[in-house]
Amino acid sequence: MIRGIIFDFGFTLFYFNDVSLEKYLNCYKIGLKKAVEVLNGMGILKQTSETQKFMNKFNTLRTRYFRDSMKTNEEYPTSLIFKQVFEYMNIEEIDEILLDELTTIYHSCEAEEWVPFQKTATTLKELSKIPDLKLALLSNHPHHDTIKNLVQKHKLLQYFDMVITSALFGKRKPHIEIFNYTVEKMGFKEQDKKNIIMCGDEYADIMGAHRAGLQILLFERKYKFPYEKEIPLQNINKIQEISEILNII
Ligand SMILES: [Mg+2]
Repeated sequence: MIRGIIFDFGFTLFYFNDVSLEKYLNCYKIGLKKAVEVLNGMGILKQTSETQKFMNKFNTLRTRYFRDSMKTNEEYPTSLIFKQVFEYMNIEEIDEILLDELTTIYHSCEAEEWVPFQKTATTLKELSKIPDLKLALLSNHPHHDTIKNLVQKHKLLQYFDMVITSALFGKRKPHIEIFNYTVEKMGFKEQDKKNIIMCGDEYADIMGAHRAGLQILLFERKYKFPYEKEIPLQNINKIQEISEILNII
């Protein structure tokens, strides 16, 4: 008997409009540009050279942390990167509210592109009618509120018992601890893991959950990212439409 389902966010419940790696990266460029425009408007960054220095440092840190997180599964929240750039620039008195605002702006271009699959809402609604079945969302993302706000904007928050992100927890999937944390937050014990499904579209979801002792369900994504990690498991349960999960549980 299935007692819980943990869903991944990107390409499992939501898709990215006209996805391509270029478009994805371009959104981060636009996001950073918008964020520095706010700082220009506030008079925090005055000269063009200062603005350029700020952007260069941000991109350097982001690339470094991205590489590091591939190896360690450590999450470096976007707000932390902004904070470190301000420190590097010797700009003081930047409060948490402004850091969070800049982070939201930085992710705003991306946030506009994420939309739920056609059958996401109806599937979650059906699942939520099943007595004693708990639903959680578990996303690798460097800004918790971007994910939570997206789920809320599309009126899906009501279906989840909890929303957990790597930004909140500090580690990224496939780190086993983020799965253990999610299971615990759902109110389950170690012995309940065999009755919980992790549904996701990539290595991080499937291998992390498998190692944590959860059941796994692969949502087969149509778009393939370059350098994607193969899942070294045979006979995995797969679905092509999110609604197919209703036939499995
Ligand atoms: Mg995904």
